This record gives sequence, structure tokens and C-alpha cells, in this order.
Amino acid sequence: MQPQLAKEKHAKYFQRILQIMPSDLADHDCSRLTIAFFAISGLDILNCLNDITNETKLEAIDWIYGLQITGAGPRSGFQPSTTIPKDATKYQCGHIAMTYLGLVNLLILGDDLSRVDKKSIIEGMQACQNPDGSFSAMTMGSESDIRFLYCTCCISTILNDWSGMDKTKAIDYILKSISYDGAMGHGPGLESHGGSTFCAVASLFLMNELHNVLTQDQLNRLRRWCLMRQNSGFHGRPGKPFDTCYSFWVGATLQLLDVNKFSDPDENRTFLLGTQNYVTGGFAKFADCQPDPLHTYFGLCGLSLLGESNLCVMNAALNISDRAYKHLLKIQKLW
Ligand SMILES: [Zn+2]
Repeated sequence: MQPQLAKEKHAKYFQRILQIMPSDLADHDCSRLTIAFFAISGLDILNCLNDITNETKLEAIDWIYGLQITGAGPRSGFQPSTTIPKDATKYQCGHIAMTYLGLVNLLILGDDLSRVDKKSIIEGMQACQNPDGSFSAMTMGSESDIRFLYCTCCISTILNDWSGMDKTKAIDYILKSISYDGAMGHGPGLESHGGSTFCAVASLFLMNELHNVLTQDQLNRLRRWCLMRQNSGFHGRPGKPFDTCYSFWVGATLQLLDVNKFSDPDENRTFLLGTQNYVTGGFAKFADCQPDPLHTYFGLCGLSLLGESNLCVMNAALNISDRAYKHLLKIQKLW
């Protein structure tokens, strides 16, 4: 018999994470906003956001706004956790990925973004772009690659303001990140990877440039590379085992490239459902492993892309539900 989606168990798994961090996730305290995103967006994809009381939603919204650093020029943006106190200005600095996650968490919770200091965010973002077009995560010294470029495309889309980015340079960086096999690495000269390929393709899609800057031949090579990542589930690189999260990274890329119909949905679904934990809820990276918030979230996203019944339809490029995206369009009309 085909395994079923343990929807209620997964909703409870995310509810628990929202209330208390399991001790084995203590190391992730410095990226608490990320864990919050997996739980909040995960409940949304499960169509279970109404399981959270309005009071909890308002508390969460206030907590997220508490992470916003405004009027700090290049240091503006959202920081990852309240572990860095507000008065420790020396250590305060916005982080591009956290700004993206702060904004999408607010959107999913139904906030109208009225307390977002757009000008400061754009300033902070602009300061993170490097001469080669890539983006650093923050201005206090950090890694820089295509992940943060993707986050800035999401931020620009959400704020409906692209002035914080030199698009021409960003596109140039993406094109230089195309590897010999047709897919994209985290930067020029690096091995292509399912995650960085999603970031590159989704960035071009959000810029509305996907079909302008890539030739038909380049698009077809990309499509072929992505389709070749499937065995039953998907893997991120040739020769690697398939892993729950790539059903989203590669699955979403296939959707943006309009060729998801050529993958095998039944094999993918069977693999994904086989990584669920029916006792605690949650999805693991592989079958018979411990579930974790990231793979639970992306496992559900992978199933949503397959059209699983009872799950919210996704906006693949922004990595949020279509419902949250429609809310964004509604509030943008009021700006
Ligand atoms: Zn994974």
C-alpha cells in the first residue's frame, strides 16, 4: 500500500518547534529566524496556519520586527536572533538571508509590512553587493555567493524596489557561475549544484530575465541537467545519494524551466513519503534518519510541487505559498 502523508503529525512537529527549540538544535540559536521560517511556512504549506492562535501570530510578528536594524546604513536589515541584544550595537548587523526570511515570515503571518523600513533595507542590501556582482551575507565580513544574490532578488521583489542591486553585474555573476555541464555553481569556477542552480534560475526568473539572458541551448542544457538529477527522489550533484530537500531545489527549478512534467512524480512521491517519521512527525534527509526542520519543510514543498492534495500550492521562485504571494500582491497595491 502506498504510504500516506502524516499531515497532522507534521503540523504538530512544527508547532513544537515554534514553542521550544529541541536541545539538539541549540547550535542553531544564532539562526533562529530560519527555524521559525521552516515552522511558519511549513504550517502554511500544510494549510494549518490557523492552528496557531492570533495572539501567537501577533507575538511572532512583534518578535520578527524586534530583529530589524534600521537607520544603520550598510548594517541595516534583519539580524538572525534576539541573542544579539539591541544595545550591543557593536555586534549588530543585518544579514541578507535573514532579511529575506524576516520579510517572508511577516508576509506568511498576514502582516502588511507597514513597520518595515524599506529605505534602510535597500541601503543595507546595496552595501552588500561586491564589484563582481555577487552579494555578501552582511557587511561585517562574511562569505559571498549566489545564495545571497537570490535572497536580494526576493527582497527586491517583495519590496517592489530593485534600486538596491546593480542587475547587470548580478546577471554577469550568474552567467559566470555556469559550469561546463550547463548548471550553476555557488560562484564562477565552482561545481554545479542543485541548490545553487535553483538560486541562479529563480534569481533570473524574479528579475524577469530568465528567457532574455539564457539562450535556448543554455536553457535546454540546464533542463537536461536538472532532469538527470532524478533517480527516485532527487540528488544535488552527480554521484550523490538522493535527499529530500532536492525534491524542492531541483523540483522548483524544473517548474521554473517549465519541464517538471518530464520528471517522474510517482517515484519522487514514494521516496519523499518514505522519509517521514510517523511517530514524531517530520521528514528526514534519507529514510531511517532523524527528521529535522529543514528536510521537513522542503519535503513538504517537494510534495506541494507534485500537486499533493491538501497542501498549499507554492510560489516556487519566492519559496512561499501561493496564498502568501497573493497577500503580497494585495498589500503592494496599497503602497
Ligand atoms: Zn538535504
